[in-house]
Amino acid sequence: MNFQGMNASESLRKQSMNRSIVRIFSALIVGAALCFTTEQSLALIQSSRNVLAPSRAATASLVQFDDPYSDFRNARYSNAGLLSEGDELKLGMQLHREVTKKFNLTNVGLDRVERVGQRCAKTSLRPNMLYKFHVVQSREINGFSLPGGHVYITTALLRLANDTELASVLAHEIGHIVARHSLKTLQKSQEYDEIAKSIGELTGVAGSTARDIGVALGQMLGSQLLTAHSRDEEREADFLGVRGMARAGFDPQGMITMFQKLQRVEEQDSSLLGTLFSDHPDAGERIENTRSEIARMRRGR
Ligand SMILES: [Zn+2]
Repeated sequence: MNFQGMNASESLRKQSMNRSIVRIFSALIVGAALCFTTEQSLALIQSSRNVLAPSRAATASLVQFDDPYSDFRNARYSNAGLLSEGDELKLGMQLHREVTKKFNLTNVGLDRVERVGQRCAKTSLRPNMLYKFHVVQSREINGFSLPGGHVYITTALLRLANDTELASVLAHEIGHIVARHSLKTLQKSQEYDEIAKSIGELTGVAGSTARDIGVALGQMLGSQLLTAHSRDEEREADFLGVRGMARAGFDPQGMITMFQKLQRVEEQDSSLLGTLFSDHPDAGERIENTRSEIARMRRGR
């Protein structure tokens, strides 16, 4: 996990928490707040925050006020406005060819990934996609996904995670495929028109069009354009992941223990954490979000 942005994200998180507390407390102490300027109220609340542990009710309100997943709850997913599903499959096939040139794929642990992954795939919001799981030989703890249903997990991650934790990572990656995150990124890239046109013309994997497109896609993979996601996309994949793994019958607590393991690795040797975690919201925030989502699921919402 790359925590170069840790201080910035930590302070952002704190700011947003402060804002939530301001909202809750301003409702509770509306009379008092009327007598203060906003700055003074903020100072009051910040000083009281260290002394007063939030009550159960306030914690529940925090969750309601600050639903990090509110944008995703009613989302509907399709390829409308993006590459067609047929072209997405062709793109995925070409990208996977480039992956095999850059990484060492192995059969070690593949049965396990396939078993856990297909279970999560069936209960995902895109169950008709044909998902293909791959294991990459690497000391980095990492996972990523590509259009067309390709999901990659490293051998180091497989050693670290039990089946439930593995399910959380796989369901998260499937979430990126459900939400078409890489397709959306591709569409915003300069090379999009060229690639969309060539993919449409592509009938097989041989020939000069395939070679040209291979070069362009290889460069995209190298620059991690398609595997790096925005923080909002990561939140969406976490949301789809925790819901998806629960529907598949895995204990969603596995997502929390996975994040905790990653936190420990990060403290011990952050060079072991790959890109999967570099652009993500920090682990503390993800644990907090996952906890409140599990509580929401238990309440049947
Ligand atoms: Zn992700």
